[in-house]
Amino acid sequence: MLKSVVGAAALCGLAALLLTTCNLLQIGPAELAMFDRRSAASLFMVALGVLMARSRAARLWGRLLTALGGFFGLAALLAPNEVSPAISAALVCYGAASLLFLAPRFGIGQAAAALAFLPSLGSLIGYLLGTEVLFGMPPASVLLATVLCGAALLGGTAHRGAIRVFLSNTISGRFARKQIVIASLVPIALAVFFAQLLPDGARPLALAETVASMIVIAWITIGATALVGRRLDIKRHRAEAELRSMARHDALTGLLNRRSMNSALPQHHAEARAEGLPITLMMCDLDHFKKLNDEYGHAVGDDVLRRTAQRVNAAVRDSDLVFRYGGEEIAVLLQCGPSDAVRIAEKIREAVKARGRRAGDEGFPPVTISIGAATSERGRTDLKELMAAADDRLYAAKDAGRDCVRHVTLP
Ligand code: GH3
Ligand code: MG
Ligand code: MG
Repeated sequence: MLKSVVGAAALCGLAALLLTTCNLLQIGPAELAMFDRRSAASLFMVALGVLMARSRAARLWGRLLTALGGFFGLAALLAPNEVSPAISAALVCYGAASLLFLAPRFGIGQAAAALAFLPSLGSLIGYLLGTEVLFGMPPASVLLATVLCGAALLGGTAHRGAIRVFLSNTISGRFARKQIVIASLVPIALAVFFAQLLPDGARPLALAETVASMIVIAWITIGATALVGRRLDIKRHRAEAELRSMARHDALTGLLNRRSMNSALPQHHAEARAEGLPITLMMCDLDHFKKLNDEYGHAVGDDVLRRTAQRVNAAVRDSDLVFRYGGEEIAVLLQCGPSDAVRIAEKIREAVKARGRRAGDEGFPPVTISIGAATSERGRTDLKELMAAADDRLYAAKDAGRDCVRHVTLP
């Protein structure tokens, strides 16, 4: 959607450039000749600047060229000439928006660009209602070029600010899209309805401008609300993701917690069973950890636990799952057969044992770990049986004097 809007904006810019070029060179249908040449020159600059700003290299010059077009609009407003006030006002807004995009203040810049539609919209509604218009009624070709320039300017920044929110699929984006359709169509429909009720010949001044103002103010308000809504959406999203992560991880070690284990184990076991693949569960328990706590204090114990978790994590592949099963017990779930299971368990044991002997471990006590591992070769063993077997092997490792691996292979 974003790409098509940006593409459509480029086409609008090209169309505006073509219209104004035809006028300046006095070619094309007679309709275009009604276009005053000053408006055409200013709109030409705006359109060319907008198209140049699409390229990163020419962005600065493009924005400045658009701003220059806007400056001519301001001059025409201050010293009235043949340029219609509707076009002058729009040009001023385009110039201001372009400078704001350069700042870069995309939200406010887009509000200024939206404001540029006010006089054009007023004139268009004026045509529709057959009523008098404060800003005047410039020829349709001039209006068309002005609106095309605005669309090119706004659409060219669709990847930023409020326009991006309008195009997004977030709640605030969907809400804003509905609001903008209602806010644009309902005032026009009501104005057309009330215009029918007027006595013949009555041409209320500024009705079109009033309706156009309502619409443009609604656009800007909806855009600002959508921007704030989007920020809140992002904040809520982050907070939810953080909460989800907190619910799945253990605060001390950062490992997956028991709750994650309860959901991951049946799922991975069922997958292994369905595909006839091997699955290994390891139960690891630090040796004499109570003693370590008593000797060095609980804080050191916590740190040893944290570092042990890091070592275990580093010893396995990213696809393997490491859980804090209990106090100083760590469970590892791996998709591997018996020989790999023993090799990896030994690797974990060695990695934990190396603790206390590495740089940064000074002052920390050496520690060892006992590991009980059970491999179901084709995933046929019941999950409860697999867990009991790994537990049983852990007890065997403790009985064998600790700091060792005991493994069993099941069907
Ligand atoms: P064994 O070799 O038989 O496993 O001996 P052990 O002392 O490790 O015995 P056990 O596994 O029963 O002891 C667990 C100890 O781990 C008890 C508790 O003080 C300690 N512990 C459990 N959770 C934590 C924790 O979060 N932080 C710290 N510092 N210690 C913990
Ligand atoms: Mg224990
Ligand atoms: Mg222990």
